[in-house]
Amino acid sequence: RYFSSEPSLQVDSTEENGFKGHGMLAPFTAGWQSTDLHPLVIERSEGSYVYDINGKKYIDALAGLWSTALGGNEPRLIKAATDQLNKLPFYHSFWNRTTKPSLDLANEILMMFTAREMGKVFFTNSGSEANDSQVKLVWYYNNALGRPNKKKFIARSKSYHGSTLISASLSGLPALHQKFDLPAPFVLHTDCPHYWRFHLPDETEEEFATRLATNLENLILKEGPETIAAFIAEPVMGAGGVIPPPKTYFEKIQAVLKKYDILLIADEVITAFGRLGTMFGCDMYNIKPDLVSIAKALSSAYMPIGAILVSPEITDVIYSQSNKLGSFAHGFTYSGHPVSCAVAIETLKIYKERNITEHIQKISPRFQEGIKAFSGSPIVGEIRGLGLILGTEFVDNKSPNDPFPAEWGVGSLFGAECEKRGMLIRVAGDNIMLSPPLIMTPDEVEEIITKYGDALKATEERIAELKSK
Ligand code: PMP
Repeated sequence: RYFSSEPSLQVDSTEENGFKGHGMLAPFTAGWQSTDLHPLVIERSEGSYVYDINGKKYIDALAGLWSTALGGNEPRLIKAATDQLNKLPFYHSFWNRTTKPSLDLANEILMMFTAREMGKVFFTNSGSEANDSQVKLVWYYNNALGRPNKKKFIARSKSYHGSTLISASLSGLPALHQKFDLPAPFVLHTDCPHYWRFHLPDETEEEFATRLATNLENLILKEGPETIAAFIAEPVMGAGGVIPPPKTYFEKIQAVLKKYDILLIADEVITAFGRLGTMFGCDMYNIKPDLVSIAKALSSAYMPIGAILVSPEITDVIYSQSNKLGSFAHGFTYSGHPVSCAVAIETLKIYKERNITEHIQKISPRFQEGIKAFSGSPIVGEIRGLGLILGTEFVDNKSPNDPFPAEWGVGSLFGAECEKRGMLIRVAGDNIMLSPPLIMTPDEVEEIITKYGDALKATEERIAELKSK
């Protein structure tokens, strides 16, 4: 069981609070984990490493949650936060009042995004809020254009767009829907572009992409193009298992969307700011989105912040509509929080000064090759990724159609073997994911490869034992 290796803290406060386990209803955690196991309590970080409360050191091969791009304890981010806290810890951005850091950050983001011209930036606190805001903006836009029926969203199965009501609806992962009465009825899901798992016999990547674009077009025609507002996609799917698109996919999908006047939202919450080796995922796949969601690496996760980039065309419509209504009545107390913005400005400065994309292009080939060299393992179905993101799918007999028995928890076994060896990763069923800090050194890349290899070997042995029973 994941996180069962070494209890890092005695937190069972049954006596004091009258219930089993600790006092926190923990996100994305099973009840039995909270009540039967001690949580892994992380206390401090240093570069690409984090330390638990007992002092055990782990290489943080997921960068927090795909987010601490500059690693722990970057002094410039800490200074940016404390300077801003001293000067002005908070002021809002409602009613045409705002703060200098939020204005400066909006400009900086617009300058950095070059896949196409963008008009404005709207600030949120998270990726989920960014995607929720996308839906509201698109509805507002279509209402303003006098097309009140153009309201449906198409997302993809296995996508992850967040966990609020709307962003969880957009997500294509059953666990986010079951028992929550989701997805909302205006959300439709189309194919996951996962070539290895879903291609037909003898189908090339290009043919697979063509089939998916045709399926998308058929879905649009079935629903009525006048009812479909937008399509949302991660350039590389993250939490669904690190799934880069097959060749020609975005080219073909964009042609269909254009034909039916459907907006394209790029969810770059994981891919923005270098993760793939380009500044944005849109640069990697020649995506020309109408709207973009960003978060995570925007502030290297030192402070919560997300944002959406809005095309000039949509901005114009929102402005003219809000003139009529008196206000664009959407926003959060912490939209453009000055401390988060100050930290984000410094983060973006560091990416530029350290030429982060060049650094990733330099270190990622070894990261990719080193891990993909384990593709021959009898328990590995596919290892895929690019830049500093990698996913591994465990299956039996090298076949996408032969999952291991769920009760074996193969992904969790691998996660526990990594944890034992001092490496933290992401486990989701029998998929595991790596997305280390962007500042990785070559030695740290080697450490990840070695630990991955050792954990894989131990997992293979466990499975051999389970099979022999
Ligand atoms: N979109 C994507 C692609 C993500 O990976 C995530 C978070 N993992 C989100 C949205 C949601 O972001 P948050 O957790 O900050 O709400």
